[in-house]
Amino acid sequence: MTIALIDCNSFFASCEIAFRPDIEHQPVVVLSNNDGCVVARNQYAKALNIPMGYPYFKIEKYLNQYGVHVFSSNYQLYTDMSDRMNSILRDCAPTVETYSIDEAFIDLSDIPQLKLAEHSYHIQARLFRELHLPVSIGIAPTKVLSKIANHLAKKYPQTHGIVDLSDTVRQDRALALIPIEKIWGIRSGRSKRLNALGIRNALELRDYKNTKLIYDVLTKPGAIIQEELKGTSILKVETTHSAKKSIMASRSFTPAITNEASLKQAIARFTTIAVEKLRKQESKAQGLYVSIRTNRHISLKSYRGYDAHLLQAPSSDTRLFIDIALNILARIYQPGFYYKKIAVGLSHIWPTTTQLDLFHPGDSAQSEQLMHTMDHINHKYGPETLKSAALSTAPLWKTQMNFRSPQYTTNWNEILHVKI
Ligand SMILES: [Mg+2]
Repeated sequence: MTIALIDCNSFFASCEIAFRPDIEHQPVVVLSNNDGCVVARNQYAKALNIPMGYPYFKIEKYLNQYGVHVFSSNYQLYTDMSDRMNSILRDCAPTVETYSIDEAFIDLSDIPQLKLAEHSYHIQARLFRELHLPVSIGIAPTKVLSKIANHLAKKYPQTHGIVDLSDTVRQDRALALIPIEKIWGIRSGRSKRLNALGIRNALELRDYKNTKLIYDVLTKPGAIIQEELKGTSILKVETTHSAKKSIMASRSFTPAITNEASLKQAIARFTTIAVEKLRKQESKAQGLYVSIRTNRHISLKSYRGYDAHLLQAPSSDTRLFIDIALNILARIYQPGFYYKKIAVGLSHIWPTTTQLDLFHPGDSAQSEQLMHTMDHINHKYGPETLKSAALSTAPLWKTQMNFRSPQYTTNWNEILHVKI
């Protein structure tokens, strides 16, 4: 088995820089939703010691002082770049498992050992040439080892972003460099107990003889990690999602809807239906889009409003998605039209078990419990027995987005202009 983990370096910042070659060698940061805090930094921003997750308002002066380029999150751009990255990867490997917006596992078992390095450089060069995205590639016989290889490829510039841990001697050397809290899948709270057993790095975990003790501390995932560190592949590369990749709820209205209040209700209802389907297939979604359009066969006065939003962590909370959908509606609604077709869709759907982003832990246990209860009651007593208040009245909020870059790749009005 040969697995490669492809991970884009400073993904959000790299997407911004891809369209702004003029700032390629300058510090760049990207802010979270509502321009809240720093969520991505390129290498020059890291060199200025700008901390990840730091509130923007506290650091604004410092950023100005050092001429740091600041961007609001432009999720439409990032999602589109991620899709493009995945389609190139599908060209380079038979199986591609999209793991997060900027990471994918690919199966390279068909590539002869001697050709692995060349093939990896080819993938890296192609992603840079076609998308201007810099990636690190970690190659190994298991997923856990490929994560470690990728970590080293990022950390040590002399690797040029590619580390191959196929060889067992190299595995020994590499694992000794990895503190246990850096191992994929090991929760940070567990390090102390492992330290008490004398385990401080990945090599010591791999070679720890008392596997029962490991099982006691780390349970089943820990046992799997230990096997994978030994080079036995247990976690397979799977083409992402046996479940549906997108879910949509839509309807045509006769007569057409003209007022915003009715549109809000319709959109809240469709969102509710879509998110229910999502929970039913035990998934979470990261993206949501809303589309409203007039009858396209009547050419007198036609309009189509469309916008999408990408969350920082996947969710299956109806309330959150209704808020987002109504916020999108507020942006795309134009008065004076007869809206005929309304659609709400979910995209970037992950199995509920997908590991969540460190900084954005996703739905709280409370939210999960509430949604579960709601589904249960609605199943028992009929649809919409319990529903969000937005289905009859709608709250509105506005997103702060002061530094958003153009939607270069998804919006014709914002496409890049080249002067010749
Ligand atoms: Mg990354």
